[in-house]
Amino acid sequence: MAGWKEEFETVIAAAVRRSRTIREVMMARGALPGAGALVRRHFEGDRAVVFADEAGFAAAGDPLVASLEDAGLTVIRHVIPARPLPKPTAKLAEAFRAPLKQAGAVPVALGSGVINDLVKHAAFVEGLPYLSVATAASMDGYASAGAPLIREGFKITIPARAPRAILADLDVIAAAPPEMTSWGYGDLAGKVPAGGDWLVADALEIEPLDEAAWPLVQHNLRGWLAGPEALARGDFTATARLFSGLTAVGLAMEFHGSSRPASGADHQIAHLWEMQGLEHGGRRVSHGACVAVGCVAVLGLYDWLLEQDLGRIDPQAVAAAAPSLARKFAEIEALLDDPRIIERAREETRAKHLEGRALEARLMLLRARWPQLCARLRAHLMPAGQMAGLLRAAGTPAGASEIGVSPARLAWALKASRFIRARYTLPDLLEETGLLAQAVQAVTGTGRG
Ligand SMILES: [Zn+2]
Repeated sequence: MAGWKEEFETVIAAAVRRSRTIREVMMARGALPGAGALVRRHFEGDRAVVFADEAGFAAAGDPLVASLEDAGLTVIRHVIPARPLPKPTAKLAEAFRAPLKQAGAVPVALGSGVINDLVKHAAFVEGLPYLSVATAASMDGYASAGAPLIREGFKITIPARAPRAILADLDVIAAAPPEMTSWGYGDLAGKVPAGGDWLVADALEIEPLDEAAWPLVQHNLRGWLAGPEALARGDFTATARLFSGLTAVGLAMEFHGSSRPASGADHQIAHLWEMQGLEHGGRRVSHGACVAVGCVAVLGLYDWLLEQDLGRIDPQAVAAAAPSLARKFAEIEALLDDPRIIERAREETRAKHLEGRALEARLMLLRARWPQLCARLRAHLMPAGQMAGLLRAAGTPAGASEIGVSPARLAWALKASRFIRARYTLPDLLEETGLLAQAVQAVTGTGRG
């Protein structure tokens, strides 16, 4: 576990130098007093507008403001209540724009997921670069360009821009509520099955791996996920490694130009539950917890898949039995109920649908490459049970029941997830080979159908 600083320099700082948007990531213990100088290095204005909720401001607001004032900046505080938990709505992001209209404003997001997304959006609309001051290693969105916000009831990722600089004071981040760190761990764990989905898409010549984004996330992922027990204790080294991983993911998305390096079927499952407003124990289930449960379920599907011999399929017969687009549309109607989501699901599904000769050709490719793909997947993935153990050690939910999801609802999500994004993931492969129902049954213990 030694050497997070060296790893930060060789992996993260090196990637930041290649970023078109992020100029500096300052991660250290006691980094907050460097905020003023950081702003002076990378921003033009003289008025720092600090956005936070009360909890985030209590965690780091005073030393942040002091440092900004020491650097000669006028500080405007825009602090919103922490209870009820602020929701990342497009409407709230609009309200964040008003204080940015004065000349010389430098937006500063002090907080984690919601505050960062709101400021990211408001700053982007106002055409201003912003500083992200992280208060928890709770998600991978600090360094990412998109702002996932709720607009008219839907969670959609609105294009925006990554921050110009990120400040991560490890004393603040390690002192965050442990469950927030556990959510970040869950979000990062999802990169294991997401990488599997990308290997599948690469083997089938749908989306090739990329030489910048793939190694940035995948070559260090095992190390970032090692030591979950230390993370649960608020250990600085483990926290630094988790934050490095979450930052790398954001940079990888920038380099690749899409969220493919970070998001596969695990995230599609999480998005379904998030759009439904999944609650457990009277509280909304976090993004990271939804991803963690999706991650273990998808790894279960992979465990099952790797027991099958797809090198013996009959492409012609399998393609002939595969569902038509009309049959998929009927299934979309049966599985989803919101007409707006159904409409979107149709478009996403149409974009990746293959049938007839084209599907047959893909299945021939799969048959030919199966031994090689199988070996790559085995080397890359980890068994679902092993991942569940790591997650639980970090304090992250791993099983569906831990977030109040029944086996039937998990089975529903594993099937419905393939319809909400055009991205090709494992459930698509299982459907095209006629194995989806069987695989879902094996993983969830639910009946067929
Ligand atoms: Zn995520």
